[in-house]
Amino acid sequence: MVDSDNYTKKKDVIPTSRVRNIGIIAHIDAGKTTTTERFLFYTGKTYKIGDIDAGTTQMDWMEQEKERGITIQSAATTCFWPPYDKTPPDKINRINIIDTPGHVDFTAEVERSLRVLDGAVMVFDAEEGVQSQSETVWRQADKYNVPRICFINKMDKLGADFMMTIGMIKDRLGAEPAIMALPIGAEKDFKGIILLLERKALIWEGDETGAKFHETEVPSDMKEEVETQRAILIERICELSSNDSLLEKHLEGEEPSLGEIKKGLRGATISYKLVPTYCGSSLRNKGVQPLLDAVIDFLPSPLDIPPVTGYNPKLERDEKRAPKADEPLAALAFKVQTDPHVGRLTYVRLYSGTLTSGSYVYNISNGKKERVGRLLLMHANNREEIKEAVAGEIVAIVGLKDTSTGDTLASETKPIILETITFPDPVISLAIEPKTRADQEKLGYALKRLAEEDPTFQIKSDRETGQTIISGMGELHLEILIDRMKREFRVEANTGQPQVAYKETIKEIATGEGKYIRQSGGRGQYGHCLLRVEPQEKGQGFEFVSEIKGAAIPREYIPAIGKGVKEAMENGVLAGFPLIDMKVFVYDGSYHEVDSSEIAFKIAGSIALQDAAKNAGLALLEPIMKVEVTTPDDYLGEVIGDLSSKRARILGTETRAKTKVINSLVPLAEMGRYATRLRTLTTGRASFYMEPSHYEEVPSNITEQIVSKNKKEESK
Ligand code: GDP
Repeated sequence: MVDSDNYTKKKDVIPTSRVRNIGIIAHIDAGKTTTTERFLFYTGKTYKIGDIDAGTTQMDWMEQEKERGITIQSAATTCFWPPYDKTPPDKINRINIIDTPGHVDFTAEVERSLRVLDGAVMVFDAEEGVQSQSETVWRQADKYNVPRICFINKMDKLGADFMMTIGMIKDRLGAEPAIMALPIGAEKDFKGIILLLERKALIWEGDETGAKFHETEVPSDMKEEVETQRAILIERICELSSNDSLLEKHLEGEEPSLGEIKKGLRGATISYKLVPTYCGSSLRNKGVQPLLDAVIDFLPSPLDIPPVTGYNPKLERDEKRAPKADEPLAALAFKVQTDPHVGRLTYVRLYSGTLTSGSYVYNISNGKKERVGRLLLMHANNREEIKEAVAGEIVAIVGLKDTSTGDTLASETKPIILETITFPDPVISLAIEPKTRADQEKLGYALKRLAEEDPTFQIKSDRETGQTIISGMGELHLEILIDRMKREFRVEANTGQPQVAYKETIKEIATGEGKYIRQSGGRGQYGHCLLRVEPQEKGQGFEFVSEIKGAAIPREYIPAIGKGVKEAMENGVLAGFPLIDMKVFVYDGSYHEVDSSEIAFKIAGSIALQDAAKNAGLALLEPIMKVEVTTPDDYLGEVIGDLSSKRARILGTETRAKTKVINSLVPLAEMGRYATRLRTLTTGRASFYMEPSHYEEVPSNITEQIVSKNKKEESK
């Protein structure tokens, strides 16, 4: 355990310019977890290194993660570089690492991390180069404007090829790597690296954790290559940094100082022009310390990124908040986690202002005032309590009750709403029920808690069958959540077969009418409305607009109609799948002085929506997966033939060393048991990777089958 006083003292003297909020991103198995582990070890936070293969890593603290050897949930970890006990306080930097999971079922975790990060380390496998998921996370990082550095890992592995990976970073990612380090040797002869700018060779004296390295001269057989690469590096930095004096010096044939070059590269990295690229082997403990130096030298501090923009609902305009402690508070909750020891933890990124333990904050997204119980700096297996946190920091709050992922915490007098985090739609669903009646309530509670933590996990109760349906990003995702329910909430449940999560949408503009009129003795019921539905662009979601002018329907009943519409959409019209991407207008109706009520208008809204949707014509949408199969040449024909029989669209085939990579789009409904199928087809020599791509209309013959199957099930 580390002395927490010591941390707090150090923290107090670390200015925001020396804070780095980073994430480590990669294709699964490239070495993200191992690299994170080494970061924690060399920064001095863990004294026993975790070994993934033995399932004891520090970051992967959840039991299922240990068993499965994958990282599922981000944990925000704070560490210091250079190590705090060996460095004078004014030289210490603080690195907040947000762990991002590697498995594609957890893309939401990657998205939410990237949203709050300032910079990222992208890890590659030196043998595999740029893999498909590397491409996906790279694009995600582009979307959130996250400056990056690259680490070409596994230089010790058979087949490791540094220059091939550099080539792929250029070709497949369209990035410009600034080669900062060259490997000395490769595969089993990988010994260390040469830092080009410094013309320094670093040789590690062993593979074990904590093995020392010494600095030495560049080996004579590498001198020429080092000079060539170094000249290219300096030239590109001078050309691409926005510092004119650097370019002038370069053009006059004078080499700028090391400090000037590094500063130039920092600018070029933060403006996405260059990507400083290093290499090493995390497993063999080589090359990690220079990578930590690079995080500090080249990735931005919270002060280097533009002030955050949000909407001030009081003044009804967009405003900016600078990353300063004395600005009004603006913080984004990016993760909620139930911790076995302290309860509900809310991870927040502070964009401006100060958070103090014991104070009250305003959740502007839901209008509730919340008390900040305690503030914690988190480590996967250790935590330190702090009194306050300032702009630029990432901390966990204990005590917030009503704050969910994506909510903004702000000052009540100077409110601001930050853009919320968007998540992809779940693609797979299954029915779930408690094993015993007594567990019913516990099941509901557990599902609610888990859904609060994970926005891609959704719960719905089917109105017709009364069943509870859960949806998520893949079978593994749901399996893990059900497992957590057993372990953490002690609820045993029976589950149905996983089903593809179809959606419904309308084809054309149409109108519909809903009347709910009952006259039974005393006070009756009267609700009546006319709706118009219009298809929206894909992903535009749902909007409800009132066009009622005059007194056709009193204003207070409009929201009730909206509620009825929403409920009907959730339950679907064609085959019980949620209806999406449409705009609904209420344009007319009538009411009764005595009999009208909210409930009557809600029911009328629901009936009208169903009527309008039927008139508009309905289509079923299905999730389409991006599927990439890597196979030896010999099986190419079989694999493509098989994919084609699955309604696949083959996008292209690439050659990589001795293998072929087939890129395709395949409906998820056709991908059941694909792992087994592929194994049989290729005697286990091919592998595949799949992730959700988009939703597409289901061909009409298949729609009919699905509709009649769902109708049958409903009428059972
Ligand atoms: P992640 O899925 O990206 O988090 O990858 P992991 O860190 O879990 O590593 C995946 C596998 O690669 C594990 O078996 C590691 O031991 C192994 N690995 C990680 N780094 C290296 C490395 O530098 N060299 C070699 N040869 N294997 C490595």
